[in-house]
Amino acid sequence: MIEKREFYIGGAWVPPSVARDHAVINPTTEEPCAVISLGDKADTDAAVAAAKAAFPRWAATPPKERAGLVAGILVQYEKRLQEFAEAISMEMGAPIDFALAEQAPCLPWHTTNFLKAFEEIEWVRPLGDHAPGAAVAMEPIGVVGLITPWNWPVNQIALKAIPAMLAGCTCVLKPSEEAPLNAMLFAEFCHDAGIPAGVFNLVNGDGAGVGSQLTTHPDVEAISFTGSTRAGIAISKAAADSLKRVMLELGGKGANLVFADADDKAIERSVRRMMENSGQSCNAPSRMLVERSIYEDAVEKAAAVANSIKVGPAGNPGDHIGPVVNKSQWEKIQGYIHKGIEEGGRLVAGGPGLPEEFNRGFYVKPTIFADVKPGMTIEKEEIFGPVMAMIPFDSEEEALTIANDTVYGLTNYVQTTDAERANRLSLKLKAGMIEMNGKSRGAGSFFGGVKQSGRAREGGVWGIEEFLESKAISGYDFSIAAE
Ligand code: NAD
Repeated sequence: MIEKREFYIGGAWVPPSVARDHAVINPTTEEPCAVISLGDKADTDAAVAAAKAAFPRWAATPPKERAGLVAGILVQYEKRLQEFAEAISMEMGAPIDFALAEQAPCLPWHTTNFLKAFEEIEWVRPLGDHAPGAAVAMEPIGVVGLITPWNWPVNQIALKAIPAMLAGCTCVLKPSEEAPLNAMLFAEFCHDAGIPAGVFNLVNGDGAGVGSQLTTHPDVEAISFTGSTRAGIAISKAAADSLKRVMLELGGKGANLVFADADDKAIERSVRRMMENSGQSCNAPSRMLVERSIYEDAVEKAAAVANSIKVGPAGNPGDHIGPVVNKSQWEKIQGYIHKGIEEGGRLVAGGPGLPEEFNRGFYVKPTIFADVKPGMTIEKEEIFGPVMAMIPFDSEEEALTIANDTVYGLTNYVQTTDAERANRLSLKLKAGMIEMNGKSRGAGSFFGGVKQSGRAREGGVWGIEEFLESKAISGYDFSIAAE
């Protein structure tokens, strides 16, 4: 059993102010795999104070120097990749090969992209030839609170902590209490990379405790949050009193429009994408809308793919999917599966209960419902498990209406070989991101949604600018070289 009760504050690991043990449960065994502490207000205050003290110097550090220090995190990652991936796998249930190939590498992927984008930041920009001496200066916002979920834990940390530090902000991370071990390793990477004391701080805790303390703290200028829409709303309200900037990445209910002219790998690719990470991705293509002429065939193919996906322990090598993160998520997903049956969905793969070969572990059968109607619970609500809804459509217009008729707007998908249709739909679908024919976002693009999926823009230049404030200056002399 791993015991890691300390918090990383002001460049050192310090014990919690009050003993509040929290067991981290391994979803494969349902047994505790680690004990951490949940922080108290005194811990949050200490971390914010350390970040505040470090801010003036870090903000004044030349951008190149900051970039060099942040790049050092990659060296630490390379040294400890196996350990890092094992932590993720154990605490949130991602199979080890998936953790090694997909989850852990989010850190170098985003960091490399951010470092490249960082070179493009113009710190003092002329407004234009029409307004001589008018400038816009970009400045770090100050101390930022970073609150992250458990499902792609390193991905979220990299999308927040790396650009915050590059921008010249200092930060306090509160990772998910479900998956804190990878975050603590990230803090070690920062330490060993020589990131100055107080620039990056970590306090473990829950939403009601450290989460809301950060959100309401008078010395925290901004909150960057990824998680549920429920918590995003609570955070927005709590942050209003101190008028913080709030950046939100929330839930999703991605529509995947499959046309009769889609390539012949489209169904398989889409089902695998849905089931990946046991369906625990905010951008999962969880609603598959299929043109009626190929619908029955698509249902059959999708069911066959889902039935071929193996479910198994996170520690085993292989391309299976692991358990979902915890008991309450398992129960929530089971509730949706029952609801889907009750409301008249046609179950064509998976279904309720544990897969036959298991009597413990939070496993969910890869499940597909056909004949789902717009407005059914499983069509409207985010399930966050390996459960996909299939819906037939008769025209492009109808598909567009169903796709856009949701409170969410994160990623929508289109499968078609008709380039004109693809372009047309990419502009008409209401979402922060559109992926065509299995092509994922380009390096340096952002991740982000619209509507109740939150409106943050994480990644690339946009992701760095989230942590910067602009200042309009008149009478700036551009003939004097900046320091
Ligand atoms: P969650 O909202 O329960 O928790 C996320 C984080 O917020 C945790 O660290 C938690 O402790 C903290 N938190 C909870 N309530 C809080 C509050 N009132 N104040 C401050 N902090 C609070 O979400 P989760 O169960 O960890 O993650 C799953 C959710 O995250 C899903 O809805 C998923 O769609 C969403 N998600 C979104 C994205 C995205 O980029 N859009 C990415 C991954 C996950």
